[in-house]
Amino acid sequence: MTKPVKMPLADRINSLPPYLFEAIDRMKQETLSAGVDLIDVSIGDPDMPTPSHIVERMKAAVENPENHRYPSSAGMLSYRRAVSGWYRQRFGVSLEPETEVLSLIGSKEAVAHFPLAFINPGDTVLYTSPGYPVYPVGPLFAGGQTHALPLTADNGFLPDLESIPQDVLGKAKLFFFNYPNNPTTACATREFFDEVVEFASRNNIIACHDAAYSEIYFDGKKPLSFLEVDGAKDVGIELHSLSKTYNMTGWRLGFAAGSKEIIAGLAKIKSNMDSGVFQAVQEAGIAALETDDSVLAEIRNTYQERRDALAEGLTSLGLEFSLPEASFYIWTKAPAGHTSSSFVELLLKKAGILATPGNGFGDAGEGYVRFALTVSVERVREAAERMKEVL
Ligand SMILES: *Cc1c(COP(=O)(O)O)cnc(C)c1O
Repeated sequence: MTKPVKMPLADRINSLPPYLFEAIDRMKQETLSAGVDLIDVSIGDPDMPTPSHIVERMKAAVENPENHRYPSSAGMLSYRRAVSGWYRQRFGVSLEPETEVLSLIGSKEAVAHFPLAFINPGDTVLYTSPGYPVYPVGPLFAGGQTHALPLTADNGFLPDLESIPQDVLGKAKLFFFNYPNNPTTACATREFFDEVVEFASRNNIIACHDAAYSEIYFDGKKPLSFLEVDGAKDVGIELHSLSKTYNMTGWRLGFAAGSKEIIAGLAKIKSNMDSGVFQAVQEAGIAALETDDSVLAEIRNTYQERRDALAEGLTSLGLEFSLPEASFYIWTKAPAGHTSSSFVELLLKKAGILATPGNGFGDAGEGYVRFALTVSVERVREAAERMKEVL
């Protein structure tokens, strides 16, 4: 008989916190198998389909044998040109497609891989918290340390860069921040981005802005790009994803833009680890980046209608939140006497609603839950009705 291999997982895996959405998925499966009519507002995955002109471009691109071969790791020049054109049009920022733009297999992989390019054991990575759960993962894989900067209602969900202890600053090499913010929905001011540029330059820290929600905004208030502010291209990069903007989470496409030297570092890691994005997906990405604004306006209106319906329900229940100007979430304070987890459990067991506990995004998220606006407005209203019966 062959003796089976018994191998413990590597320390870097054992040091990770449990991935938030795995636990939520388990709760979801349990509830569904009990036959509950579940309203799932837990995960930020758009329920609307990818716009049809993008799907059509993909169909044609799949037929082209030139697209069946290995793509370049950096991305097709035509895709990077489309990104550069999009930046110019949307933000008035000019980018050199050859050196200042890089294709990504979605922005999650870049968040996870980026620290490998610049972090040595002993180095520290700063990140805003509550936040996207992947920010602390890449640094740990690289053997580095992390330091969370709390986002609270008191600081308007913008980190207090002045409060970072000097010994942490001395070791800090990289700073992840994300606006419009998931999960708090806060938007950055120009003053804050200016402050980040000054902070990064003074302390020699790479600024990495995750802008996954820059195009999901309400009431016509367009969020800023970090690269719009003076000096940003000297200190950092910005990560974008086509996932949320164009309902393309399954396609795996994004891009990084900014400082040539920093982009080159990320490109070095990526060229050693992956072989780029399927060219047909990049061609579809070009079609996405050229989407008529009326298509996007319709998507935004749909989210805005849902936001307003949920906001009305939460207000009538006396729950505390600030009305989001962007993203597709509502970051809501749990009612008095509840923790994040106890409120999520109550909603699941008594109302058949699955929300995300705020503490899953980091300690500073304790006391909050996140509702995603990724179900129809009818289901949002139904969720509000069910909550009324429970609270
Ligand atoms: C969804 C999300 C991402 C990752 O999106 P990809 O699908 O990997 O491009 C990155 N950051 C934040 C804050 C997100 O919410």
